[in-house]
Amino acid sequence: MATIRYQKTCAICGQPFTPRTVTSLYCSDKCSQSAYRKKKAEQKKAEQLKAIADAVPDERPFISIPEAIAIYGVSKSTLYRLIRLGQIPAINLGTRLLRISREEIEKMFTARQQPQAAKEKPAAKVYSLEPEDCYSIGEIAKKFGISESTVYSHIRKNSIPTRQIGRFVYAPKSEINKLYTGKNSSL
Ligand SMILES: [Zn+2]
Repeated sequence: MATIRYQKTCAICGQPFTPRTVTSLYCSDKCSQSAYRKKKAEQKKAEQLKAIADAVPDERPFISIPEAIAIYGVSKSTLYRLIRLGQIPAINLGTRLLRISREEIEKMFTARQQPQAAKEKPAAKVYSLEPEDCYSIGEIAKKFGISESTVYSHIRKNSIPTRQIGRFVYAPKSEINKLYTGKNSSL
């Protein structure tokens, strides 16, 4: 009598099979190899998408369709549908040169693409807001001979991050030095 053995469904061909070990996922060597090749291809694709996404400067307002797919993980058909519906503003710079508004697409897709977005942010700009890496606003005013309100307006204008500790507001030394030493050198 044949013993009743535990059956699994092959993750590649979908056929039922009797696994050799509890961790077996595929029915045959052929399906295992096919799974391996598939995994490699997916890794390669993911690397290509990451390379495309990384090459797009953060401040560029319009991006191409392949760039949007790489950055937001959105499908081509979804993108074209949203463009057709006018939900994502697009400009056509010529054949295969459609550019879409990053701001609008970001409104729709950042929430869904949180992990990817979170991964890309640190690569863009990393600030240390540790007290030893910061000046207080008062220190900046004194060091560069300007008023505190001017310091605040420069910080706002240049989107420099700040941190409040007690009564004092701090900004990263690196950004402040870049801002003012860059300015002073041109005087
Ligand atoms: Zn199989």
